[in-house]
Amino acid sequence: MSHITDLPAIFGSDVFNETTMRQRLKPHIFAAWRNCIDTGTPLELDVANHIAEAMKVWATEKGATHYTHWFQPMTGITAEKHDSFLTPAGEGRVIMEFSGKELVRGEPDASSFPSGGLRATFEARGYTAWDPTSFAFVKDDSLFIPTCFFSYTGAALDKKTPLLRSIDEVSRESIRILRLFGDTASKRIIPCVGPEQEYFLIPRDLYAQREDLRLTGRTLFGAPAPKGQELDDHYFGTIRTRVSAYMKDLDEQLWRLGVLSKTKHNEAAPAQHEMAPIFSDANSACDSNQLVMEIMKKCAAKHNLVCLLHEKPFNGITGSGKHNNYSLSTDTGKNLFSPGKTPMQNAQFLVFLAAFLKGVDEYQDWLRSTAATAGNDHRLGADEAPPAIISVFLGDDLNAVVKSIIDGSDYAGPTRSYMRVGVDVLPNIPKDTTDRNRTSPVAFTGNKFEFRMLGASQSVADPNIVLNTIMAEELGQFADELEQAEDFDTALHDLVVREFRAHSRIIFDGNGYSEEWKEEAARRGLSNHPATHVAMDHFLSRKNIDLVTKHRIFTEAEFRARYEIQLEAYIKILNIEALTSIDMIRHQILPAAIKYTEHLTRAIVNKQKIGMTCKAERELAQRLSTACDKLYDCCELLAADLQKVPLEDNTARANYYGNVIVTDMARAREQADLLEALTDKAYWPYPTYSDLLFY
Ligand code: ADP
Ligand code: MG
Repeated sequence: MSHITDLPAIFGSDVFNETTMRQRLKPHIFAAWRNCIDTGTPLELDVANHIAEAMKVWATEKGATHYTHWFQPMTGITAEKHDSFLTPAGEGRVIMEFSGKELVRGEPDASSFPSGGLRATFEARGYTAWDPTSFAFVKDDSLFIPTCFFSYTGAALDKKTPLLRSIDEVSRESIRILRLFGDTASKRIIPCVGPEQEYFLIPRDLYAQREDLRLTGRTLFGAPAPKGQELDDHYFGTIRTRVSAYMKDLDEQLWRLGVLSKTKHNEAAPAQHEMAPIFSDANSACDSNQLVMEIMKKCAAKHNLVCLLHEKPFNGITGSGKHNNYSLSTDTGKNLFSPGKTPMQNAQFLVFLAAFLKGVDEYQDWLRSTAATAGNDHRLGADEAPPAIISVFLGDDLNAVVKSIIDGSDYAGPTRSYMRVGVDVLPNIPKDTTDRNRTSPVAFTGNKFEFRMLGASQSVADPNIVLNTIMAEELGQFADELEQAEDFDTALHDLVVREFRAHSRIIFDGNGYSEEWKEEAARRGLSNHPATHVAMDHFLSRKNIDLVTKHRIFTEAEFRARYEIQLEAYIKILNIEALTSIDMIRHQILPAAIKYTEHLTRAIVNKQKIGMTCKAERELAQRLSTACDKLYDCCELLAADLQKVPLEDNTARANYYGNVIVTDMARAREQADLLEALTDKAYWPYPTYSDLLFY
């Protein structure tokens, strides 16, 4: 592996970024592109032609022979179809060509991507359109062009289109609030996202021996290793040489692609690690995170490792999440979630805080649904992951402020009876560095909110679509009210007090795992949707549909399609897991346990012949035999239940899988794991947790 001597030089060297564009485009073309970014207007074809030509020259210098429109269909991962730059030039010669039309628009044959019914087969074509706000890059000898993906009728078929729509909405409504506070300079508000990515690395040869890992990305079986993470000896511990080489390699590849990979460390669980980038605008953060996930996986292969991005690869061991750090920034670089120093800055912050609390409270179900996947169902609510109940953690200092405002109670000292928004100065609210309340799904950390529910393998687009949209909605409501106010200061104060009071139920700083919190949350009327099929039951509420259509994030048809796609994915994953479970039980687990039992029974017969005792063999054989019988019954029940899946619709099927199949699988697993614990390791057909995690 090469040694990086000049990071600034390699950083972004494979990206057609702003610096490269400035160097390679004629000034008026560059200005036209910049203007299109700043104002959100489409590019003229002539400008696109110039950019395409410059891109092609640049990309071919880097060895690219192909280009691809790179898009994010609703599978949650990326898709690409490569075309070469080749164009016949007569007399058997070819030239390398790439036009503005090819840059701006593509037509992948994309009929196999999920559309949730948005695309009937007769109009199966999908189209891609260049997103000029995200930079093109060269990877694996291709020029990658970030694009939106939509149907013949213009319906969004991807994750990027609604994200871009939501970015515009939150910008527009935030600006209205800023104007009320006298900010005339900011033109645009940019949602900023820093997604921390957790992952596991395990040896490739061991991975290959486990059908469950290969087919489902997680262990469907596995008795706990004698050691878990109780010693806390892995978190931030010294990084293994092999892993360290991997991380170095990963960083270099990411840096070349302009991904601001910043922090790397070992995580809480054995064999678990984390990469945190420096935050960027939500759109490029989302694109970058897709690249991060892809390169994490590819890079592992080179080091004879496998990178698991599943949210819960190992039972009883911390799962992998993706902490979505979110803030809103002006185009002049001011963070709107930063409390500020003057009374007016404080007041503006409190308005944004009120909007956040109101939005999360009112649309908690929608936000929850963004983390609803079959994999994440195993992660939430256990082993250091947040629970399924949405609440917001503010930390002691901010909590005291909010409480004082709500109660009108003494905060500033004996001379004042309450804190007046816009008049009093807030105390300094330190960035939260100490209290890492890991049980909180949404935490304020000084100048940003961290949404921690998302699973490691998920696209960050969905939660950011929700956060942008709910902020846009609430800020819009506030702006409507404040713009009409006769006395701004009084109206402001009243609004903040009223909204804090109305939504205080969403604030919770305690232990999210406790039974008391579940009861308390129920008393507060907060939702608790422990599994995907339950969470998705609330997705299509009138409230959500009204919100997304009002802000033109989704049409009703698009929104309904997302529902179908999310449920379909859930159903398919559970179906594959169930079939894999049956396969492993029938062809690996039962045969292994039976062979070992047979070995024991032969030993018993032989030992009895010569009058030896055989208590251990007898008891072991009996326990194995009982567990085998039970496992056999569990497996047959699972197989039978799979035959009874209702056919009506995805809702009914998802409920069936969530209630019946998941329970059947858990019962079978219990017996299988017991057998693993009882069986001679020499007989066991696949690597154990101990092999996988403590290599
Ligand atoms: P932690 O202590 O949780 O690691 P950091 O401050 O290092 O917190 O940030 C974690 C992630 O949050 C990083 O990806 C970082 O770039 C991102 N982040 C920091 N500030 C912001 C912000 N204002 N908006 C969005 N993300 C941010
Ligand atoms: Mg974090």
